[in-house]
Amino acid sequence: MRKLLLHTCCGPCTTYVHKSLVDQGFEVKGLFYNPNIRPREEYEKRLLMMEYYATAVGLKVIYQPNDLELEPGNCENCYRVRLRRTAQFARDLAYDCFSTTLLISPFQKHELLRQIGEEIGKESGIPFYYQDFRIGYRESRQMAKKFNLYMQKYCGCDPHPLTLNRPPSPSKMERGIKGVRKKEASYAKVS
Ligand code: SF4
Repeated sequence: MRKLLLHTCCGPCTTYVHKSLVDQGFEVKGLFYNPNIRPREEYEKRLLMMEYYATAVGLKVIYQPNDLELEPGNCENCYRVRLRRTAQFARDLAYDCFSTTLLISPFQKHELLRQIGEEIGKESGIPFYYQDFRIGYRESRQMAKKFNLYMQKYCGCDPHPLTLNRPPSPSKMERGIKGVRKKEASYAKVS
């Protein structure tokens, strides 16, 4: 079974990508590293949703702290920083390849992302696994809804006040947690 280290940007984008990779026979581990998400509260929400989804589906994730100040709006650098870190971990942990959940978003610079991933793959000696996951974007939103995951309306560094999601209400969070517990119970029965 090929081992793939998956850079994860958030819970909602992880849903479909993770499922698709597992269905294709990969052994997947996540790496959450997203130093350009602002403000801090927004970062915390995405981190929480990631932890909560990963727990529900049994995905192991390495959480990397925000250790860099990145320039807002410089997507090329932002992609490089995240994918380089992922490739480093993949190499150190003897993974066969690495990839990113950013490939599911129709709002990202998809071709640039692919190009950078492939460059870093060559530099690091760990192949970048490319797949156009955008076909599953809609399904990923449906999956995220089932888990009551918070879905942000901007990429990370430039929250426009009109598009900034409000934090989930306590009752929504409560429903989400119940959903996760139910899933956990059903996974426990299967295993
Ligand atoms: S828009 Fe997204 S990818 Fe581009 S710099 Fe900001 S956080 Fe990074």
